Amino acid sequence: MKIAVYPGSFDPITYGHMDIAKRALKVFDKLIIVISVNPNKHTLFTGEERVKMVKLALHDIADKIDVQVSKDLSVNTTKKLGATHIIRGLRAVTDFEYEFQMTHANRVLENEIDSIFFMTDNRYSFLSSATVKEIALFKGNLETFVPKVVEDMIKEKLKY
Ligand code: ADP
Repeated sequence: MKIAVYPGSFDPITYGHMDIAKRALKVFDKLIIVISVNPNKHTLFTGEERVKMVKLALHDIADKIDVQVSKDLSVNTTKKLGATHIIRGLRAVTDFEYEFQMTHANRVLENEIDSIFFMTDNRYSFLSSATVKEIALFKGNLETFVPKVVEDMIKEKLKY
C-alpha cells in the first residue's frame, strides 16, 4: 500500500488543500494529513480543532485518510508513519522558492523521503488560509473558499 503524508498548518483547511488531497489520492492508496503544531506559531485553531475540521471537510474520503497532529519535523513523522512521500501543493511561482528550500533541507535530513507537488485547480490558485482568516475578520462571505462545516467553525470561533 502506497502511503503519503500531507503536512501543513491547515488553519483553516480550504478548498485548495482539499483539492490537493484528492489529487494525491489518485496516486497514493492512503493519505495521512499531518497537522503541524508549532508552539511558536500563533494559529486561530488548536491542533485538536484542526483535526476535527479536516475530518469534517474530507468526510467523503474518510476511508482513505488519517488525520493527526505532530510536533515533529515532517520528514521524521513521515518516516515514523511508514510513508514514502511528502505531498505539498503549489499555487503560484511564489510558493516555489519556499518549497524548493524545504525539499532540499528535508533531503539532507532524510534522503529516502521524496516530496511530490501537485498544482491546484485554477480556481484555488490565489487561495490561502491567511486570506480566509482576513476575510473572516471582516465577516465576509467564505462560501467559495471553505466548505460549510469549516465556515461554521470559523464563525463559532470568531463569534459572528
Ligand atoms: P504550511 O504552513 O506548511 O505552508 P499550509 O496549511 O498553509 O501549511 O499549506 C500546506 C500545503 O498546502 C502547502 O504545500 C501549501 O502550498 C498547500 N496549499 C495551501 N493552500 C493551497 C491552495 N489554495 N492550493 C494548493 N495548495 C495549497
